[in-house]
Amino acid sequence: MYQKPNERLAGQTAIVTGANSGIGEAVAMALGKDGANVVINYISNPEAAEELAQKLSNDSICGEAIAIKADVSKEDQVEHMFKQTIDHFGTVDICVPNAGLQRDYALHEMPLKEWQFVLDVNLTGQFLCSRAAIQEFLRRGMRPEISAALGKIIHMSSVHEVIPWAGHANYAATKGAIIMLMKSIAQEYGPQKVRANSIAPGAIQTPINREAWETPEALNKLNELIPYKRIGKPSDIGAAAAWLASDESDYVNGTTIFVDGAMTCYPGFTTNG
Ligand code: NAD
Repeated sequence: MYQKPNERLAGQTAIVTGANSGIGEAVAMALGKDGANVVINYISNPEAAEELAQKLSNDSICGEAIAIKADVSKEDQVEHMFKQTIDHFGTVDICVPNAGLQRDYALHEMPLKEWQFVLDVNLTGQFLCSRAAIQEFLRRGMRPEISAALGKIIHMSSVHEVIPWAGHANYAATKGAIIMLMKSIAQEYGPQKVRANSIAPGAIQTPINREAWETPEALNKLNELIPYKRIGKPSDIGAAAAWLASDESDYVNGTTIFVDGAMTCYPGFTTNG
């Protein structure tokens, strides 16, 4: 439960991709409530992005929030989003590559273009955003009065970075790949004090998985996979992201935080397997 806002991210600027919906929206709100300036990246539904930017900007704790359109799978658009952010706020301190989607097929029927599309958004999008963020962290240099780290990257992964997912091989492959992208960044840029971590959400109630929670029957079935017996809220992920972005987690680097109600704890074995 999110309670008192604090100012642990004051003076910092965060880019959150896919921030006009679901988890990205909750992450943007949590970072804003801790005092950060926030870029609400979106690709569709500009009204939702502008509304969130307005709401955060009107909040007395939050810095300023602006909405920027960019397709994270397109190099020129990601570069332009970072340029606009730096022109407006001066720098970037926190990058949350969160945008993601599913295109579900049995593997033997999966068209190459649907495999590629999911890789382009879920994986290449995270590479392009991380690369641009690291370039800016290195250009700007340390600001010890603002943060103990040069910059923070928080990849939005999934429990499917470890749980195989039949019928979703393209999606699961991108989340599996994010582990090594994140760990390689932590290893390569740790000496310059960049922190890279992932959040692996379990089942979180958002539009991406609506059919898994929109009826009581679906929700009951979903709960069989969750030892903690409730679906996750976007704010559960927002809280983890705000902590990972703050100096409170300064020694956490190169790891995945699972926020999943124990979904990864083999619930099938709860009653002796
Ligand atoms: P969502 O559909 O509500 O949000 C996804 C966002 O990404 C949307 O704003 C969408 O417009 C945006 N997006 C899609 N393609 C884009 C592109 N090319 N460029 C920019 N933005 C783009 O779903 P969500 O559940 O909030 O998902 C957010 C992230 O969390 C995804 O990476 C997803 O894989 C991950 N995740 C979600 C769950 C869950 O249960 N909801 C579980 C594990 C991981």
